[in-house]
Amino acid sequence: MIYTIETNNENETLALAQKLGELVQARDVILLEGDLGAGKTTFTKGLALGLGIEQVVKSPTYTIIREYTKGRLPLYHMDVYRLEEAGSDEMGLEEYFYGDGVSVVEWSKFIADELPPHYLLVQIDKTGYYLQNRLFTIESFGDRYEKLLEGWKTTNEN
Ligand code: ADP
Ligand code: MG
Repeated sequence: MIYTIETNNENETLALAQKLGELVQARDVILLEGDLGAGKTTFTKGLALGLGIEQVVKSPTYTIIREYTKGRLPLYHMDVYRLEEAGSDEMGLEEYFYGDGVSVVEWSKFIADELPPHYLLVQIDKTGYYLQNRLFTIESFGDRYEKLLEGWKTTNEN
């Protein structure tokens, strides 16, 4: 299933992602694609709010991964941009994907070989006259994510 929705500012993106954060379960995998400045980290901040995480969520660009353990579920926030050249074979990312938390991955295309078979893929594109808005194109892969996307879509429409 594919679902598209647009946001007009940062707060709308936070609210959109927060609703997803309220629906996710352990071992869910959310992949975020989009250029620098598209809103991947902003989206992750909103998702963290939905998990009840009160710690400040910072971009993990230089650390590759940051873990937040004080919410309803652990959040594993990865930015694998720097693994494009280094490779991810020895990173042990499976431990996170198949762990007890929710994995959110920025630039997942750089670790395509390491990804689990099922996930929710969120593509973020700048849109609008001043490229102020963001178009979210969200695709589910696998039954779990079809259900998750269906539920998220419903909460956005109500
Ligand atoms: P990325 O992680 O994809 O590089 P960030 O989330 O770090 O992107 O940055 C997104 C930037 O775009 C922020 O400065 C944010 O304020 C701005 N922005 C403007 N409009 C939006 C919107 N509709 N949704 C999300 N971010 C937006
Ligand atoms: Mg980022």
